[in-house]
Amino acid sequence: MSEISFFDQVSRNFWKAAALTDHDETLLRQIHQCNSVYQMKFPVKRDDGRIETVEAWRIEHSHHKLPTKGGIRFSEAVNRDEVMALAALMSYKCAIVDVPYGGAKGGIAIDRRQYSRGELERITRRYTFELVKKNFIGPGIDVPAPDFGTGPDEMSWIADTYMAMKAGELNALGCVTGKPVAQGGIRGRTVATGLGVYIGIREACEMAEDMAALGLKAGLGDKRVVVQGLGNVGSHAAEFLQDGGATVVGVAEHDGALLAPDGLDIHALLRYRREHGTIRHFPGAETLDDRDCWIGFDCEILVPAALENQIRLDNVAQVKAKIIGEGANGPTTSEASEALNARGVMVLPDTYLNAGGVVVSYFEWLKNLSHVRFGRLERRFEEGAFRRLLHAMEKMSDRSFAEEELKTLAHGATEEDIVRSGLEDIMVDAFHQVRGIHRSRPGCPDLRTASFVSAIDKIVVSYQELGIFP
Ligand code: NAD
Repeated sequence: MSEISFFDQVSRNFWKAAALTDHDETLLRQIHQCNSVYQMKFPVKRDDGRIETVEAWRIEHSHHKLPTKGGIRFSEAVNRDEVMALAALMSYKCAIVDVPYGGAKGGIAIDRRQYSRGELERITRRYTFELVKKNFIGPGIDVPAPDFGTGPDEMSWIADTYMAMKAGELNALGCVTGKPVAQGGIRGRTVATGLGVYIGIREACEMAEDMAALGLKAGLGDKRVVVQGLGNVGSHAAEFLQDGGATVVGVAEHDGALLAPDGLDIHALLRYRREHGTIRHFPGAETLDDRDCWIGFDCEILVPAALENQIRLDNVAQVKAKIIGEGANGPTTSEASEALNARGVMVLPDTYLNAGGVVVSYFEWLKNLSHVRFGRLERRFEEGAFRRLLHAMEKMSDRSFAEEELKTLAHGATEEDIVRSGLEDIMVDAFHQVRGIHRSRPGCPDLRTASFVSAIDKIVVSYQELGIFP
Protein backbone atom coordinates (compact mmCIF):
# COMPACT_ATOMS: atom_id res chain seq x y z
CA MET A 1 0.00 0.00 0.00
CA SER A 2 1.27 3.46 -0.86
CA GLU A 3 2.11 5.41 2.26
CA ILE A 4 2.08 8.87 0.82
CA SER A 5 -1.01 10.99 0.31
CA PHE A 6 -2.57 11.77 -3.07
CA PHE A 7 -1.20 15.33 -3.07
CA ASP A 8 2.25 14.03 -2.12
CA GLN A 9 2.07 11.61 -5.04
CA VAL A 10 1.27 14.43 -7.46
CA SER A 11 4.13 16.39 -5.87
CA ARG A 12 6.47 13.44 -6.29
CA ASN A 13 5.65 13.30 -10.02
CA PHE A 14 6.04 17.08 -10.23
CA TRP A 15 9.51 17.19 -8.63
CA LYS A 16 10.72 14.23 -10.69
CA ALA A 17 9.86 16.20 -13.83
CA ALA A 18 11.11 19.51 -12.41
CA ALA A 19 14.56 17.90 -11.96
CA LEU A 20 14.71 17.50 -15.74
CA THR A 21 14.33 21.27 -16.23
CA ASP A 22 16.60 24.15 -15.26
CA HIS A 23 13.89 26.49 -14.00
CA ASP A 24 14.35 28.67 -10.93
CA GLU A 25 13.71 26.72 -7.70
CA THR A 26 11.52 29.48 -6.17
CA LEU A 27 9.35 29.58 -9.25
CA LEU A 28 8.98 25.78 -9.19
CA ARG A 29 7.90 25.95 -5.54
CA GLN A 30 5.36 28.66 -6.41
CA ILE A 31 3.90 26.48 -9.18
CA HIS A 32 3.78 23.37 -7.00
CA GLN A 33 1.73 24.67 -4.07
CA CYS A 34 -2.01 25.41 -3.86
CA ASN A 35 -2.76 29.16 -4.01
CA SER A 36 -6.16 29.29 -2.26
CA VAL A 37 -7.92 26.74 -0.07
CA TYR A 38 -11.54 27.33 0.96
CA GLN A 39 -12.96 24.83 3.42
CA MET A 40 -16.60 25.28 4.39
CA LYS A 41 -19.33 23.72 6.49
CA PHE A 42 -22.99 24.45 5.97
CA PRO A 43 -26.31 23.10 7.25
CA VAL A 44 -28.71 21.21 5.00
CA LYS A 45 -32.29 20.29 5.80
CA ARG A 46 -33.07 16.65 4.99
CA ASP A 47 -36.50 15.67 3.63
CA ASP A 48 -37.47 14.25 7.05
CA GLY A 49 -36.76 17.59 8.75
CA ARG A 50 -33.37 16.69 10.27
CA ILE A 51 -30.58 19.23 9.90
CA GLU A 52 -27.23 17.87 8.77
CA THR A 53 -23.87 19.61 8.52
CA VAL A 54 -22.08 19.14 5.21
CA GLU A 55 -18.35 19.63 4.73
CA ALA A 56 -17.03 20.91 1.41
CA TRP A 57 -14.00 22.45 -0.30
CA ARG A 58 -13.04 24.56 -3.28
CA ILE A 59 -9.31 24.76 -3.92
CA GLU A 60 -7.60 26.92 -6.54
CA HIS A 61 -4.18 25.47 -7.22
CA SER A 62 -2.63 27.98 -9.60
CA HIS A 63 -3.51 31.52 -10.59
CA HIS A 64 -0.92 31.77 -13.38
CA LYS A 65 -3.92 32.00 -15.69
CA LEU A 66 -7.48 33.05 -14.81
CA PRO A 67 -10.13 31.85 -14.47
CA THR A 68 -9.20 28.66 -12.68
CA LYS A 69 -11.10 25.56 -13.72
CA GLY A 70 -11.91 22.12 -12.40
CA GLY A 71 -14.73 19.75 -11.51
CA ILE A 72 -16.83 19.34 -8.39
CA ARG A 73 -16.90 15.89 -6.82
CA PHE A 74 -19.62 14.40 -4.62
CA SER A 75 -18.04 11.57 -2.66
CA GLU A 76 -17.94 10.40 0.94
CA ALA A 77 -14.19 9.97 0.62
CA VAL A 78 -13.52 13.61 -0.36
CA ASN A 79 -11.02 15.41 1.86
CA ARG A 80 -8.73 18.40 1.69
CA ASP A 81 -5.71 16.42 0.47
CA GLU A 82 -7.69 14.81 -2.34
CA VAL A 83 -9.11 18.13 -3.56
CA MET A 84 -5.62 19.71 -3.42
CA ALA A 85 -4.22 16.87 -5.53
CA LEU A 86 -7.05 17.05 -8.04
CA ALA A 87 -6.73 20.87 -8.27
CA ALA A 88 -2.98 20.54 -8.95
CA LEU A 89 -3.62 17.91 -11.64
CA MET A 90 -6.02 20.38 -13.30
CA SER A 91 -3.30 23.07 -13.58
CA TYR A 92 -0.94 20.61 -15.27
CA LYS A 93 -3.69 19.17 -17.47
CA CYS A 94 -4.79 22.57 -18.75
CA ALA A 95 -1.19 23.49 -19.56
CA ILE A 96 -0.55 20.20 -21.38
CA VAL A 97 -3.51 20.73 -23.74
CA ASP A 98 -2.95 24.51 -24.00
CA VAL A 99 -6.26 25.50 -22.44
CA PRO A 100 -5.80 28.96 -20.83
CA TYR A 101 -6.84 28.22 -17.25
CA GLY A 102 -5.28 27.72 -13.86
CA GLY A 103 -6.32 24.54 -12.04
CA ALA A 104 -8.98 24.16 -9.33
CA LYS A 105 -11.22 21.48 -7.84
CA GLY A 106 -14.21 21.24 -5.56
CA GLY A 107 -15.55 18.51 -3.35
CA ILE A 108 -18.61 17.89 -1.19
CA ALA A 109 -18.24 15.04 1.30
CA ILE A 110 -21.51 13.18 0.66
CA ASP A 111 -22.52 9.84 -0.84
CA ARG A 112 -25.07 11.00 -3.38
CA ARG A 113 -26.95 7.68 -3.23
CA GLN A 114 -28.06 8.58 0.32
CA TYR A 115 -29.81 11.81 -0.75
CA SER A 116 -33.00 12.57 -2.66
CA ARG A 117 -32.91 14.74 -5.77
CA GLY A 118 -34.40 17.64 -3.79
CA GLU A 119 -31.72 17.28 -1.09
CA LEU A 120 -28.96 17.20 -3.71
CA GLU A 121 -30.36 20.37 -5.25
CA ARG A 122 -30.40 22.15 -1.85
CA ILE A 123 -26.81 21.06 -1.16
CA THR A 124 -25.58 22.19 -4.58
CA ARG A 125 -27.34 25.55 -4.38
CA ARG A 126 -26.03 26.20 -0.86
CA TYR A 127 -22.48 25.28 -1.92
CA THR A 128 -22.76 27.74 -4.84
CA PHE A 129 -24.05 30.42 -2.46
CA GLU A 130 -20.97 29.89 -0.26
CA LEU A 131 -18.69 30.18 -3.31
CA VAL A 132 -20.36 33.42 -4.49
CA LYS A 133 -20.11 34.88 -0.97
CA LYS A 134 -16.33 34.38 -0.93
CA ASN A 135 -15.74 35.32 -4.59
CA PHE A 136 -14.71 31.74 -5.44
CA ILE A 137 -16.83 31.44 -8.59
CA GLY A 138 -17.40 33.48 -11.75
CA PRO A 139 -16.65 33.41 -15.49
CA GLY A 140 -13.37 35.26 -14.92
CA ILE A 141 -12.60 33.87 -11.45
CA ASP A 142 -13.16 30.13 -11.10
CA VAL A 143 -15.38 27.95 -13.30
CA PRO A 144 -16.49 24.55 -11.93
CA ALA A 145 -17.53 21.52 -14.03
CA PRO A 146 -18.78 17.94 -13.44
CA ASP A 147 -16.62 15.26 -11.85
CA PHE A 148 -17.20 12.02 -9.92
CA GLY A 149 -20.79 11.98 -8.65
CA THR A 150 -21.97 15.13 -10.45
CA GLY A 151 -23.40 15.87 -13.89
CA PRO A 152 -25.49 18.33 -15.94
CA ASP A 153 -28.23 18.68 -13.27
CA GLU A 154 -25.83 19.94 -10.60
CA MET A 155 -24.20 22.29 -13.14
CA SER A 156 -27.56 23.82 -14.07
CA TRP A 157 -28.39 24.39 -10.35
CA ILE A 158 -25.01 26.11 -9.95
CA ALA A 159 -25.63 28.36 -12.99
CA ASP A 160 -29.15 29.20 -11.83
CA THR A 161 -28.03 30.08 -8.27
CA TYR A 162 -25.14 32.18 -9.56
CA MET A 163 -27.38 34.08 -11.99
CA ALA A 164 -29.98 34.72 -9.31
CA MET A 165 -27.29 36.28 -7.12
CA LYS A 166 -25.57 38.18 -9.94
CA ALA A 167 -28.56 39.57 -11.81
CA GLY A 168 -27.60 41.41 -14.99
CA GLU A 169 -24.07 39.97 -15.28
CA LEU A 170 -23.78 39.54 -19.06
CA ASN A 171 -21.45 36.54 -19.06
CA ALA A 172 -22.97 34.83 -16.02
CA LEU A 173 -23.65 31.56 -17.89
CA GLY A 174 -19.87 31.13 -18.20
CA CYS A 175 -19.63 30.62 -14.42
CA VAL A 176 -19.83 26.81 -14.81
CA THR A 177 -19.51 24.27 -17.64
CA GLY A 178 -21.05 20.87 -18.28
CA LYS A 179 -24.53 22.43 -18.26
CA PRO A 180 -27.44 20.86 -20.15
CA VAL A 181 -27.54 22.11 -23.76
CA ALA A 182 -30.85 23.92 -23.14
CA GLN A 183 -29.19 25.87 -20.29
CA GLY A 184 -26.15 27.15 -22.15
CA GLY A 185 -24.26 23.87 -22.42
CA ILE A 186 -22.51 22.64 -25.54
CA ARG A 187 -23.24 19.65 -27.73
CA GLY A 188 -20.57 17.01 -27.24
CA ARG A 189 -19.64 17.83 -23.60
CA THR A 190 -21.19 14.68 -22.11
CA VAL A 191 -19.02 12.30 -24.11
CA ALA A 192 -15.97 14.59 -24.23
CA THR A 193 -13.74 13.00 -21.58
CA GLY A 194 -14.47 9.45 -22.79
CA LEU A 195 -13.93 10.50 -26.40
CA GLY A 196 -10.64 12.14 -25.45
CA VAL A 197 -9.56 8.96 -23.64
CA TYR A 198 -10.33 6.99 -26.80
CA ILE A 199 -8.49 9.44 -29.08
CA GLY A 200 -5.40 9.37 -26.84
CA ILE A 201 -5.33 5.56 -26.67
CA ARG A 202 -5.97 5.25 -30.40
CA GLU A 203 -3.15 7.69 -31.18
CA ALA A 204 -0.72 5.80 -28.90
CA CYS A 205 -1.68 2.50 -30.55
CA GLU A 206 -1.05 3.98 -34.00
CA MET A 207 2.67 4.33 -33.19
CA ALA A 208 3.99 1.09 -34.75
CA GLU A 209 7.43 1.52 -33.17
CA ASP A 210 6.01 1.96 -29.65
CA MET A 211 3.62 -0.97 -30.10
CA ALA A 212 6.43 -3.21 -31.37
CA ALA A 213 8.35 -2.46 -28.15
CA LEU A 214 5.32 -3.81 -26.24
CA GLY A 215 5.13 -6.87 -28.51
CA LEU A 216 1.90 -5.57 -30.10
CA LYS A 217 0.74 -4.63 -33.58
CA ALA A 218 -0.25 -1.06 -34.45
CA GLY A 219 -3.95 -0.17 -34.26
CA LEU A 220 -6.81 -1.12 -31.96
CA GLY A 221 -7.86 -4.28 -33.83
CA ASP A 222 -5.87 -6.75 -31.73
CA LYS A 223 -6.50 -5.01 -28.40
CA ARG A 224 -8.63 -6.38 -25.58
CA VAL A 225 -9.82 -3.72 -23.14
CA VAL A 226 -10.94 -3.80 -19.49
CA VAL A 227 -12.66 -0.73 -17.98
CA GLN A 228 -13.14 0.07 -14.29
CA GLY A 229 -16.09 2.40 -13.62
CA LEU A 230 -18.86 2.78 -16.19
CA GLY A 231 -19.71 6.38 -15.30
CA ASN A 232 -19.39 9.41 -17.51
CA VAL A 233 -15.76 8.76 -18.44
CA GLY A 234 -15.65 4.95 -18.50
CA SER A 235 -18.90 4.23 -20.32
CA HIS A 236 -18.20 6.58 -23.23
CA ALA A 237 -14.52 5.57 -23.43
CA ALA A 238 -15.60 1.90 -23.62
CA GLU A 239 -18.17 2.64 -26.34
CA PHE A 240 -15.69 4.59 -28.48
CA LEU A 241 -12.99 1.94 -27.99
CA GLN A 242 -15.35 -0.84 -29.05
CA ASP A 243 -16.60 1.19 -32.05
CA GLY A 244 -12.95 1.91 -32.90
CA GLY A 245 -12.17 -1.80 -33.25
CA ALA A 246 -11.09 -2.92 -29.76
CA THR A 247 -12.81 -5.74 -27.84
CA VAL A 248 -14.16 -5.07 -24.33
CA VAL A 249 -13.45 -8.24 -22.30
CA GLY A 250 -14.12 -7.00 -18.78
CA VAL A 251 -15.68 -4.21 -16.73
CA ALA A 252 -15.90 -3.40 -13.02
CA GLU A 253 -18.50 -1.36 -11.16
CA HIS A 254 -19.11 -0.57 -7.48
CA ASP A 255 -21.19 -3.74 -7.08
CA GLY A 256 -19.06 -6.30 -8.92
CA ALA A 257 -17.19 -7.14 -12.11
CA LEU A 258 -17.92 -8.85 -15.43
CA LEU A 259 -15.48 -11.06 -17.30
CA ALA A 260 -16.08 -12.06 -20.94
CA PRO A 261 -12.86 -13.37 -22.55
CA ASP A 262 -14.51 -13.49 -26.00
CA GLY A 263 -15.81 -9.94 -25.67
CA LEU A 264 -19.08 -8.32 -24.65
CA ASP A 265 -21.19 -5.69 -26.39
CA ILE A 266 -20.75 -2.53 -24.35
CA HIS A 267 -23.77 -0.79 -25.89
CA ALA A 268 -25.98 -3.74 -24.89
CA LEU A 269 -24.44 -3.77 -21.40
CA LEU A 270 -25.19 -0.07 -20.87
CA ARG A 271 -28.80 -0.65 -22.00
CA TYR A 272 -28.98 -3.63 -19.60
CA ARG A 273 -27.74 -1.47 -16.70
CA ARG A 274 -30.31 1.25 -17.46
CA GLU A 275 -33.05 -1.41 -17.24
CA HIS A 276 -31.74 -3.40 -14.25
CA GLY A 277 -29.82 -0.77 -12.28
CA THR A 278 -26.74 -3.04 -12.17
CA ILE A 279 -24.24 -4.71 -14.51
CA ARG A 280 -24.54 -7.96 -12.53
CA HIS A 281 -25.73 -11.09 -14.37
CA PHE A 282 -25.40 -9.50 -17.82
CA PRO A 283 -25.96 -12.43 -20.20
CA GLY A 284 -22.83 -13.82 -21.89
CA ALA A 285 -20.42 -12.65 -19.18
CA GLU A 286 -19.31 -14.14 -15.87
CA THR A 287 -20.36 -12.02 -12.84
CA LEU A 288 -17.72 -11.76 -10.11
CA ASP A 289 -18.45 -10.43 -6.62
CA ASP A 290 -14.94 -9.07 -6.13
CA ARG A 291 -15.07 -5.66 -7.82
CA ASP A 292 -11.28 -5.31 -7.58
CA CYS A 293 -10.38 -8.38 -9.63
CA TRP A 294 -10.45 -6.41 -12.93
CA ILE A 295 -6.81 -5.43 -12.33
CA GLY A 296 -5.62 -8.95 -13.14
CA PHE A 297 -7.88 -9.60 -16.16
CA ASP A 298 -6.04 -10.84 -19.24
CA CYS A 299 -6.05 -7.93 -21.72
CA GLU A 300 -3.84 -5.48 -23.58
CA ILE A 301 -5.38 -2.23 -22.27
CA LEU A 302 -6.65 -1.41 -18.77
CA VAL A 303 -8.74 1.75 -18.42
CA PRO A 304 -9.22 2.69 -14.76
CA ALA A 305 -12.06 5.27 -14.92
CA ALA A 306 -13.52 5.33 -11.40
CA LEU A 307 -11.30 6.72 -8.65
CA GLU A 308 -7.72 7.39 -7.57
CA ASN A 309 -5.38 4.96 -5.83
CA GLN A 310 -6.61 1.80 -7.62
CA ILE A 311 -3.31 0.40 -8.97
CA ARG A 312 -0.89 0.35 -6.04
CA LEU A 313 2.35 -1.35 -5.00
CA ASP A 314 0.31 -4.08 -3.27
CA ASN A 315 -1.60 -5.11 -6.43
CA VAL A 316 0.55 -3.89 -9.32
CA ALA A 317 2.06 -7.35 -9.82
CA GLN A 318 -1.40 -8.60 -10.88
CA VAL A 319 -1.48 -6.32 -13.93
CA LYS A 320 -1.24 -8.31 -17.18
CA ALA A 321 -2.03 -5.41 -19.53
CA LYS A 322 0.65 -3.71 -21.64
CA ILE A 323 -1.05 -0.33 -21.70
CA ILE A 324 -2.78 1.58 -18.89
CA GLY A 325 -5.09 4.37 -20.11
CA GLU A 326 -5.80 6.58 -17.09
CA GLY A 327 -9.39 7.75 -17.53
CA ALA A 328 -9.67 8.58 -13.82
CA ASN A 329 -7.48 11.09 -11.99
CA GLY A 330 -4.64 9.50 -10.06
CA PRO A 331 -5.71 5.84 -10.51
CA THR A 332 -2.09 4.65 -10.40
CA THR A 333 0.09 5.60 -7.45
CA SER A 334 3.40 7.18 -8.26
CA GLU A 335 5.32 4.11 -7.01
CA ALA A 336 3.09 1.65 -8.90
CA SER A 337 3.56 3.72 -12.04
CA GLU A 338 7.32 3.38 -11.67
CA ALA A 339 6.97 -0.39 -11.16
CA LEU A 340 4.89 -0.64 -14.34
CA ASN A 341 7.42 1.42 -16.24
CA ALA A 342 10.22 -0.87 -15.05
CA ARG A 343 8.24 -3.81 -16.47
CA GLY A 344 7.88 -2.03 -19.83
CA VAL A 345 4.17 -1.26 -19.41
CA MET A 346 3.07 1.97 -21.13
CA VAL A 347 1.09 4.31 -18.88
CA LEU A 348 -0.92 7.00 -20.69
CA PRO A 349 -1.14 9.50 -17.83
CA ASP A 350 -4.31 11.16 -16.48
CA THR A 351 -2.72 14.62 -16.87
CA TYR A 352 -2.99 14.10 -20.61
CA LEU A 353 -5.47 11.31 -21.28
CA ASN A 354 -8.58 12.59 -19.48
CA ALA A 355 -8.15 16.23 -20.58
CA GLY A 356 -11.01 15.95 -23.11
CA GLY A 357 -13.52 17.15 -20.51
CA VAL A 358 -11.71 20.40 -19.80
CA VAL A 359 -11.02 20.95 -23.50
CA VAL A 360 -14.74 20.84 -24.34
CA SER A 361 -15.55 22.81 -21.17
CA TYR A 362 -13.25 25.47 -22.62
CA PHE A 363 -15.32 25.43 -25.83
CA GLU A 364 -18.51 25.75 -23.75
CA TRP A 365 -17.08 28.72 -21.85
CA LEU A 366 -16.07 30.39 -25.15
CA LYS A 367 -19.61 29.80 -26.44
CA ASN A 368 -21.08 31.39 -23.30
CA LEU A 369 -18.78 34.43 -23.58
CA SER A 370 -19.47 34.87 -27.30
CA HIS A 371 -23.24 34.28 -26.90
CA VAL A 372 -23.42 32.32 -30.14
CA ARG A 373 -23.55 28.62 -30.97
CA PHE A 374 -20.55 27.25 -32.88
CA GLY A 375 -21.44 26.85 -36.57
CA ARG A 376 -24.42 29.19 -36.36
CA LEU A 377 -22.92 31.82 -38.66
CA GLU A 378 -21.14 29.65 -41.22
CA ARG A 379 -22.88 26.27 -41.55
CA ARG A 380 -25.35 27.30 -44.29
CA PHE A 381 -22.68 29.27 -46.16
CA GLU A 382 -20.35 26.23 -46.12
CA GLU A 383 -23.12 23.99 -47.45
CA GLY A 384 -23.80 26.42 -50.30
CA ALA A 385 -20.10 26.64 -51.19
CA PHE A 386 -19.71 22.82 -51.14
CA ARG A 387 -22.82 22.43 -53.32
CA ARG A 388 -21.51 24.97 -55.86
CA LEU A 389 -18.22 23.05 -56.04
CA LEU A 390 -19.99 19.71 -56.45
CA HIS A 391 -22.23 21.12 -59.21
CA ALA A 392 -19.13 22.47 -60.98
CA MET A 393 -17.63 18.95 -60.78
CA GLU A 394 -20.83 17.51 -62.24
CA LYS A 395 -20.60 19.91 -65.17
CA MET A 396 -16.96 18.95 -65.83
CA SER A 397 -17.68 15.21 -65.80
CA ASP A 398 -20.38 12.64 -66.62
CA ARG A 399 -20.94 12.08 -62.93
CA SER A 400 -24.06 13.47 -61.25
CA PHE A 401 -24.72 13.14 -57.53
CA ALA A 402 -27.95 11.82 -56.05
CA GLU A 403 -29.58 14.26 -53.54
CA GLU A 404 -28.69 12.01 -50.56
CA GLU A 405 -25.05 11.89 -51.67
CA LEU A 406 -25.02 15.68 -52.16
CA LYS A 407 -26.40 16.15 -48.64
CA THR A 408 -23.60 14.05 -47.13
CA LEU A 409 -20.81 15.61 -49.19
CA ALA A 410 -21.99 19.19 -48.74
CA HIS A 411 -22.71 18.87 -44.99
CA GLY A 412 -21.73 22.10 -43.20
CA ALA A 413 -20.17 21.78 -39.76
CA THR A 414 -22.62 21.72 -36.83
CA GLU A 415 -21.69 22.63 -33.26
CA GLU A 416 -21.03 18.98 -32.44
CA ASP A 417 -18.85 18.52 -35.57
CA ILE A 418 -16.75 21.54 -34.59
CA VAL A 419 -16.45 20.42 -30.97
CA ARG A 420 -15.33 16.90 -31.92
CA SER A 421 -12.89 18.16 -34.52
CA GLY A 422 -11.37 20.67 -32.07
CA LEU A 423 -11.11 18.00 -29.37
CA GLU A 424 -9.41 15.53 -31.72
CA ASP A 425 -6.95 18.15 -32.95
CA ILE A 426 -5.97 19.15 -29.40
CA MET A 427 -5.68 15.56 -28.09
CA VAL A 428 -3.58 14.39 -31.05
CA ASP A 429 -1.34 17.44 -30.91
CA ALA A 430 -0.79 17.15 -27.13
CA PHE A 431 0.01 13.43 -27.45
CA HIS A 432 2.82 14.16 -29.88
CA GLN A 433 4.15 17.00 -27.72
CA VAL A 434 4.33 14.69 -24.70
CA ARG A 435 5.74 11.75 -26.69
CA GLY A 436 8.31 14.13 -28.23
CA ILE A 437 9.50 15.22 -24.75
CA HIS A 438 9.67 11.59 -23.59
CA ARG A 439 11.90 10.71 -26.52
CA SER A 440 14.09 13.80 -26.57
CA ARG A 441 14.54 15.03 -22.97
CA PRO A 442 17.60 13.32 -21.49
CA GLY A 443 16.69 11.13 -18.52
CA CYS A 444 12.90 11.33 -19.05
CA PRO A 445 11.68 7.88 -17.94
CA ASP A 446 8.06 7.80 -19.08
CA LEU A 447 5.10 9.63 -20.58
CA ARG A 448 3.84 10.78 -17.14
CA THR A 449 7.11 12.57 -16.39
CA ALA A 450 7.11 13.97 -19.94
CA SER A 451 3.58 15.33 -19.45
CA PHE A 452 4.67 17.09 -16.23
CA VAL A 453 7.74 18.54 -18.00
CA SER A 454 5.44 19.86 -20.73
CA ALA A 455 3.14 21.44 -18.12
CA ILE A 456 5.97 22.97 -16.06
CA ASP A 457 7.65 24.50 -19.13
CA LYS A 458 4.38 26.13 -20.20
CA ILE A 459 3.41 27.41 -16.72
CA VAL A 460 6.89 28.90 -16.32
CA VAL A 461 6.38 30.84 -19.55
CA SER A 462 3.03 32.15 -18.21
CA TYR A 463 4.69 33.38 -15.01
CA GLN A 464 7.42 35.03 -17.08
CA GLU A 465 4.75 36.71 -19.22
CA LEU A 466 3.15 38.06 -16.03
CA GLY A 467 6.53 39.63 -15.27
CA ILE A 468 6.66 38.10 -11.78
CA PHE A 469 9.65 35.84 -12.31
CA PRO A 470 12.63 36.44 -14.59
P1 NAD B 1 -19.07 9.16 -12.44
O1 NAD B 1 -19.61 9.45 -11.12
O2 NAD B 1 -19.86 9.53 -13.65
O3 NAD B 1 -18.71 7.60 -12.60
C1 NAD B 1 -17.94 6.87 -11.71
C2 NAD B 1 -18.34 5.42 -11.85
O4 NAD B 1 -17.45 4.61 -11.09
C3 NAD B 1 -19.75 5.15 -11.34
O5 NAD B 1 -20.46 4.39 -12.30
C4 NAD B 1 -19.51 4.37 -10.04
O6 NAD B 1 -20.55 3.46 -9.74
C5 NAD B 1 -18.22 3.65 -10.36
N1 NAD B 1 -17.47 3.24 -9.18
C6 NAD B 1 -17.38 3.86 -7.99
N2 NAD B 1 -16.56 3.17 -7.16
C7 NAD B 1 -16.16 2.09 -7.86
C8 NAD B 1 -15.29 1.00 -7.56
N3 NAD B 1 -14.70 0.88 -6.36
N4 NAD B 1 -15.07 0.08 -8.52
C9 NAD B 1 -15.65 0.18 -9.72
N5 NAD B 1 -16.47 1.20 -10.07
C10 NAD B 1 -16.71 2.14 -9.15
O7 NAD B 1 -17.62 9.86 -12.47
P2 NAD B 1 -16.78 10.32 -13.73
O8 NAD B 1 -17.14 11.73 -14.02
O9 NAD B 1 -16.86 9.29 -14.81
O10 NAD B 1 -15.32 10.35 -13.10
C11 NAD B 1 -14.53 9.18 -12.97
C12 NAD B 1 -13.08 9.57 -12.85
O11 NAD B 1 -12.70 10.34 -14.00
C13 NAD B 1 -12.73 10.43 -11.63
O12 NAD B 1 -11.42 10.13 -11.22
C14 NAD B 1 -12.77 11.84 -12.21
O13 NAD B 1 -11.99 12.74 -11.45
C15 NAD B 1 -12.17 11.58 -13.57
N6 NAD B 1 -12.48 12.61 -14.57
C16 NAD B 1 -13.77 12.95 -14.88
C17 NAD B 1 -14.00 13.91 -15.86
C18 NAD B 1 -15.40 14.27 -16.31
O14 NAD B 1 -15.53 15.05 -17.29
N7 NAD B 1 -16.45 13.75 -15.72
C19 NAD B 1 -12.93 14.55 -16.49
C20 NAD B 1 -11.63 14.17 -16.16
C21 NAD B 1 -11.42 13.21 -15.21
